[in-house]
Amino acid sequence: MFNICYSFISVFYFLLRSRLLNAGMLFFLLLILLLIPCGVTFAQTLMDTGAAMSIGTEMDAGGAQSATKQAPRGGTIQKIGEANAQRNAELNNAATPAAGENVPAGNAPAENIAGGNAAIPVQKSDILKDGWWGPGGYISSIKLPLYIFVFFIWVGCASWMNSDQERLKKESRETLNFLYLILYVVLGTVFFFVPIFWVAFPATLLLCIVPVMVYVVKRNKPLPPHEKVLTGEHLYYLYAVVMNKIGVKIKVKKRLSYQIGPSIEMESAGKNIDPKILQGRLIVARNAPGYNLFRESVFDALTSNATSMMFDFTPERTSIRHQVDGVWLDMAPIPRVIEKGKNKDVFEEMLESAKLLIGTNPNDRRSRQTGTFIAILGGKKRKKYEAEFISQGTKTGEAVMIQFTASKVPFKNLNELGMRPEIQPKLMEQLNARQGIFVVSAPSANGLRSSMDVFTRLCDRFTRDVVNIEDAASPTEAIENVLLAQYDSAKGETPLTVLPDVLFKEPHALIIRNMSSLETLQLCCQEADMHRLFITTIRAKDGVEAILRFLATKITPQQFISRLNGVINQRLIRKLCPACKEPYQPTPQLLQQLGLRPDQAKEFYRTRTPLPEPEERKRGICPKCNGIGYRGRTALFELLVMSDSVRELILSNPNPNLIRQQFAKEGQTGFLYEGIHLLIKGETTVEEFSRVMKM
Ligand SMILES: [Zn+2]
Repeated sequence: MFNICYSFISVFYFLLRSRLLNAGMLFFLLLILLLIPCGVTFAQTLMDTGAAMSIGTEMDAGGAQSATKQAPRGGTIQKIGEANAQRNAELNNAATPAAGENVPAGNAPAENIAGGNAAIPVQKSDILKDGWWGPGGYISSIKLPLYIFVFFIWVGCASWMNSDQERLKKESRETLNFLYLILYVVLGTVFFFVPIFWVAFPATLLLCIVPVMVYVVKRNKPLPPHEKVLTGEHLYYLYAVVMNKIGVKIKVKKRLSYQIGPSIEMESAGKNIDPKILQGRLIVARNAPGYNLFRESVFDALTSNATSMMFDFTPERTSIRHQVDGVWLDMAPIPRVIEKGKNKDVFEEMLESAKLLIGTNPNDRRSRQTGTFIAILGGKKRKKYEAEFISQGTKTGEAVMIQFTASKVPFKNLNELGMRPEIQPKLMEQLNARQGIFVVSAPSANGLRSSMDVFTRLCDRFTRDVVNIEDAASPTEAIENVLLAQYDSAKGETPLTVLPDVLFKEPHALIIRNMSSLETLQLCCQEADMHRLFITTIRAKDGVEAILRFLATKITPQQFISRLNGVINQRLIRKLCPACKEPYQPTPQLLQQLGLRPDQAKEFYRTRTPLPEPEERKRGICPKCNGIGYRGRTALFELLVMSDSVRELILSNPNPNLIRQQFAKEGQTGFLYEGIHLLIKGETTVEEFSRVMKM
């Protein structure tokens, strides 16, 4: 009976957590479900005690099967005792039909059932036997509060574990909650029937506590010290809080405000600045009232994979935008509210603390202020970000931009870059050509640098001498078997400063990321005839534009075009979140526009369509992509290999559209084909593809 009750309560507790029932209703149910058996047992215990005292019968030690059967066997039972037994038996059968289920016939201890006989002298020792059972087939009235106490410990632990995981944004939250519930229901039921109280009670108690301890150990491991719980320091802190509340003053290193909230730490930073000054800035910022909101804002941006965030302060509101995967996303604007006795709203306080952290004047809302700081995300994926802060007064208020850079894991190969296997051998041919010029290009902020790093590693650098000419101001990764030649643009040097020396050593291939100056280009064109390959980069929207950009340096077109082997261009495109994308059937018109037959694309994918309001809220936002619908990016590649007809066309009529048409005629279809390929694979949307094509 009680067992069933508490299963119900557990279920109601979880309904409550999902906000389907309110707390009042739960309390009411608890009261009814718990107090009824409690009251009955208590009354009965009193009754049994009275009967036992007046009669003083011995209890039947034989393994009786049931109370009703056993009643007539007690030889010395007097009339009152018989009446009592009768009543108890009736109570057993009528009031709690479930009691029979709760007491397995074979295992039930004798005393328990004999209790139905009303013949037990109730002594302390008896109460502590029999597992959770007391006389009368009910939970003992002394043990019942203990049982409720254990249940509330479980409720408390489950609630804390749930909210702690929510705060730490653990993906395992639902699974762990479910496991904790199932463990309690299943093992709790088993322990419920353990016939020895001193086993049943601690076992049930441990059942509540042990999983939480295991969780605490696992959660503490990756967290910074101030985030850990149940450590000596934390317990002492809790103890001090309690003692202080009841008036006993205990000095304790208080958990400071900047240590609570999301798991993120900030540091002041800046080149050539005394560490003491940086430490001073940090202390001042931490004591500013807006510092925690600043931490929360940066935490939100970083955990949603933003690479930049922007604040726009106006007299009416503060608007926040995040740049995720190269696209700006608007957050809901927050109206400016000024509390009594203050002259700033919370976001202005936040801005003030940020300015203190970077060491600029918080009262200056007009001029351009810049600085850097470090943000360290705690938790499992502990990651350090360098943040560039720029603020500038605007007509309506002030705008702030914060850009984050993290140390990236380099891409290993062309597959990781997202290049289709069909293109890869053609690219390898270009990278390992005997002589000529190969151009690698991309619009700005489209991953040109990362791709160039991969291409450099793919060059045959074991049978050829490869030299990388780089700017000391933006060093690239060191690659085995690639010789390095540095020039320093800060000193006004260009690749031309080191190029003659490098060429003197007669290398087979040279990587010069910046060779768009006329002199460099001319020298390279001359050298490209002498069994030397030049690989260079340039910013351009597509391959044809890259070619025309070189021609814009006023180099003789014939000189450049005749040495040019080919050009690759790339654009980054957002990938659909695999967790929440949904399929749909494309319309015939759309397929026609893309030049596809209906049998070539049965379904495309799109971002999740929102449901009508109550269901949408119930479903919640997708945790994998924070409801953006896209997660991560891949590259579209356009590899154009120069042919004689293209060369002729460029020299006679360098019209970009005509050149593109000529490439298409030769089957070099570029981005369109690559994009459609991604659409058919369900990796991106038509909207995202057209956004990228309009770049
Ligand atoms: Zn998603």
